[in-house]
Amino acid sequence: MYTEEQSSIEIVEVSPRDGLQNERLAIPTAEKLALIARAIDAGAKRIEVTSFVNPKAVPQMADADEVCAGLPERDDVTYIGLVMNMRGAERAIASGRIDQLGAVAVASDGLGVANQGQSSDETIDVCRDIIAKAQDAGLSAQATIAASFGCPFDGEVSEDRVVHMAREIAKAGPAEIALADTIGVANPAHVARLVTRVREAIQPLPVRVHFHNTRGTGLANVWAAVAAGARTVDASIGGLGGCPFAPGAAGNVATEDVLYMLERAGIETGLSLEKTIAANHWLAEVMNKEMPAMVGKAGGFPHPKTERTAA
Ligand code: ZN
Repeated sequence: MYTEEQSSIEIVEVSPRDGLQNERLAIPTAEKLALIARAIDAGAKRIEVTSFVNPKAVPQMADADEVCAGLPERDDVTYIGLVMNMRGAERAIASGRIDQLGAVAVASDGLGVANQGQSSDETIDVCRDIIAKAQDAGLSAQATIAASFGCPFDGEVSEDRVVHMAREIAKAGPAEIALADTIGVANPAHVARLVTRVREAIQPLPVRVHFHNTRGTGLANVWAAVAAGARTVDASIGGLGGCPFAPGAAGNVATEDVLYMLERAGIETGLSLEKTIAANHWLAEVMNKEMPAMVGKAGGFPHPKTERTAA
């Protein structure tokens, strides 16, 4: 059981990639770069900026090269490019602007074949090849195990399977391994068990977590993961996301909701809640819709205006 008190948690801002990739509205490259600039201004130090995938499969990410070309020069920010195969890895490296490759293995055959045309076992091999390729190019790499808590095609995913995959991928030397609840079916008890088991299996490598709030358990899952020793949490400004072809599908846990919860509990993130909420409101105008984040609507607490009035 993990008992060490965590005083800080790292946030990876994933809105430019996971948040946007399922949006129906085509977002101009300039707006994506504006979103990235706002995330940096709010204090984000790691940002998943795009994915290098087939533009026919994911049209929203067709401008990956243009996004990379427009990234601000920042030594203090790690830019992550998500890649599914060696071709994507080569494109990401060739951009010259990506600091870290994000490889993806899939815990189930059903989603592996649907998403990447590979069985789950094959995704482990590809993941390891991508990590090696990044290292050869002088970049770091990390891996995400998609559908770690359940698969839209195969249903339940065994914890033993995910632990086995994490152990195999860890041998390639990634910077970290993430457990992703791709379809938003995880619950906090499951999260606590799996994060604990994977931590033990891959230590000293850190565990990152990636949750979607599809069934309202997103924040509870973040809390369970942090309590179980996860070091890093993926989050998306505004809770952007959702699949236009899957009614009810929701976005990532919202950055401002995660910030609010952790900071109020005394766990530092290094991000500004005020600036993240401002980014939410800006994004709502760009996307022409209200963002699902709760703290984006309600604001933080204590409210700065109330404090000023009291003074
Ligand atoms: Zn996701």
